Amino acid sequence: MAAIESVTAEVLSNEALVNVIVRVTDTDGAEGVGEAWWGIPDRDSPGRSASPIVAVVRDLLAPKLIGREADHIERLWFELWDWGYRYADQGIFQMGLSGVDLALWDLKGRRLDTSVASLLGGPTVDGIPAYASFPPLREKDVLLSETGRAIEAGFTAVKLHELDPELTALLRNEFGRDLKLMVDVNGHFDPIEAIEHGRRLSDLGVVWFEEPVRPMRDHRALTRIGLAVDCDLAAGENEHTLDDFDRLLRTGAITYLQPEITKIGGLTAAKRVGALAELYNVALCPHNFRLGPALYASVQWAFTSPASRWLEIPWVPPGLAFSFPVDLPTMADGLVLAPTGPGLGLPSP
Ligand SMILES: [Mg+2]
Repeated sequence: MAAIESVTAEVLSNEALVNVIVRVTDTDGAEGVGEAWWGIPDRDSPGRSASPIVAVVRDLLAPKLIGREADHIERLWFELWDWGYRYADQGIFQMGLSGVDLALWDLKGRRLDTSVASLLGGPTVDGIPAYASFPPLREKDVLLSETGRAIEAGFTAVKLHELDPELTALLRNEFGRDLKLMVDVNGHFDPIEAIEHGRRLSDLGVVWFEEPVRPMRDHRALTRIGLAVDCDLAAGENEHTLDDFDRLLRTGAITYLQPEITKIGGLTAAKRVGALAELYNVALCPHNFRLGPALYASVQWAFTSPASRWLEIPWVPPGLAFSFPVDLPTMADGLVLAPTGPGLGLPSP
């Protein structure tokens, strides 16, 4: 047994895509590495929008954790969640808590020299289908070349963040039906536009239409859109609590549930959201657009839930990079393979 000695958070912004990295050390000198949500992208000052989340870890969570038993993850999670409830149960407090929770799980796995998936009961399958998730690319030639590159790397599915359905049609025509397509519009449309866009995507045979409407958590609008279009809907990256996910799933509009492990409170919360996905019998597809501990935690989580269907693998064009230096998880035949450890299984940089 060892006590928590330090808890730190820092924004890595040496590349265009920032990471918020949380580190926890214990009195035996072991370290766990986690990640909190990274804030809304800010081109002018890449790290600025993440600073409130760093402050949550540094000023609110760290003082409550120092000296406590590092192994008591559930106990610490509930104490912090209950205390932080005064700041609200959605938003930056839970984002900071996510980073701390992931670091504690990583620390525990490293101490025991085993993977987090094995601590949670072991992998339910040998491999999970993965899709290459592109940032908004907008240009036809870039979209074609990035899709070609992803296919060459072994992906059988790609996710676009494009608002023009003709770009989805372009990939469908160019690569045929063997390539699975997901489309994410990050809540860009009003309900009328979303239905129009969704009908076009239905014709193109997409796997899912993600966050079709603004505000993204307008569950009534999601219900209307779900009834009006033939394609399946995906959502959940902007939900926070178990109750939020329950409300979203009660609409019946969602086929693919996409919790973001860096927003909901880390793995301790994710276990419960995974059970809810089983209860509602929807496909669990952890949402994440960072290469780093968040991706590796999402992989560990996905492998412990029988509801898991897809893993999102961030895929960016040459010249654009994440600030945390780490390789992609091991893949074969379009599947991410069951993770080994220790902890979250981050390969050494
Ligand atoms: Mg998304």
